[in-house]
Amino acid sequence: MTSSSEASADLLPAETEAALERAVDSAARHDPLFSVRAANIKQSAVRDVFDISIRPGLVSLAGGSPYLRSLPLEDLGRTAQKIIAEHGLEALQYGGGQGMAELRSLVCDVMAAEGIVGASPEDIVITTGSQSAQDVAAKVFCDPGDVILCEDPTYVGALNTFEAYEVDVVTVPMDEDGLIPDELERIIGELEAEGRTIKLLYTIPSFNNPSGITLAADRRQRVVDICRAHTILVLEDNPYGMLRFDGEPLEPLRAANPEDVIYLGSFSKIFAPGVRLGWALVPRHLYRRFYLACEAVVLCPSPLTQMLVTAYLTEYDWRGHLQSMRGLYRERCEAMLGALSAELPDDVHWTTPDGGFFVWVTLPEGIDTYPLLYTAIDAGVVFIPGAAFTPSDEPSNKLRLAFSAVSPEDIVEGVRRLAPILRDAITD
Ligand code: PMP
Repeated sequence: MTSSSEASADLLPAETEAALERAVDSAARHDPLFSVRAANIKQSAVRDVFDISIRPGLVSLAGGSPYLRSLPLEDLGRTAQKIIAEHGLEALQYGGGQGMAELRSLVCDVMAAEGIVGASPEDIVITTGSQSAQDVAAKVFCDPGDVILCEDPTYVGALNTFEAYEVDVVTVPMDEDGLIPDELERIIGELEAEGRTIKLLYTIPSFNNPSGITLAADRRQRVVDICRAHTILVLEDNPYGMLRFDGEPLEPLRAANPEDVIYLGSFSKIFAPGVRLGWALVPRHLYRRFYLACEAVVLCPSPLTQMLVTAYLTEYDWRGHLQSMRGLYRERCEAMLGALSAELPDDVHWTTPDGGFFVWVTLPEGIDTYPLLYTAIDAGVVFIPGAAFTPSDEPSNKLRLAFSAVSPEDIVEGVRRLAPILRDAITD
């Protein structure tokens, strides 16, 4: 009897067969060269469904992409052209590792709009998005076996980054007001009693990805105080803070605690992720090592996109654009919440976010949302199963729906396609 690989090899041209054999042989020889840490580097669930999400006809409630069509693309094209024509030698050359001084200074104005007043450009490093800053934080502070605390659930990209450094990610429960301070204190106490070293609390206090939950204003100081009392640094990831649908943004944890919080900002959601730029505001006593580690990874953030963002912040009405995006995201969120109320049974619950991109849906206990994804794809809709957002391997009865990049009509259609699948899973 021939195996299926032998059978298919018969059908291959000789050179393809030889190339395949070489590839298999090389993989076998090189596999042992991978570091132990490489086994922890996984493709995120969001990237898993990325290719599927862009199939025509499918409604993707999966990826948390910002809506870019309302950006002034033609004007930005002219600006990019001008940058290259007038400053090409600087824009296309290596730049300083900290990032350009003018942009760092503008970042201080952006943060001031959120309540971080008086930050110095000297304490800022421009990063290749918040993602690279998370990586640097884990690299600079964590040894294998150290603990990073985070919310349950939390951002899948951060989990993947931290796990690559062989740290133990330990989750702290949230309720509708965010991280529960008493639980944080209890978990820290237990870990310390076991002799564990806790280095960081990674938190997305405003419009958490994936849950959309926001840490209540009256809990914010307590969370930092608890960490401070146990010499744990707070890594505050705040890409959505300015995307509050109504009213003023909540003051970040960093605002009142400059020594104990590393603040991560991003241009991905308030402008465009393709520029791959964010920033870290780092307490002065930690700055040098943090910045050197950033430089060691990327040498410098892209001067070309830094110039584009600088032009966007100085020559365009970015505040007006942000204001209109907040309205647009609010409308989409309302469309999603309305569709969920209309389509889903009483034993399904979901969060009601005040900003950001995501709604977090909870099905009755015992249902695993992962296998439902395949049925959903067949029905023409994509979501991210909840298991992606915790470090545990346990099945999850939750799922994340993103409303940011889909029109209200498509949101309603997507929920309409998803609802029977969830209803069937409940009655099965
Ligand atoms: N942090 C959170 C909470 C996110 O949701 C994302 C992107 N989805 C990132 C960081 C990555 O942001 P950036 O594009 O700035 O790397």
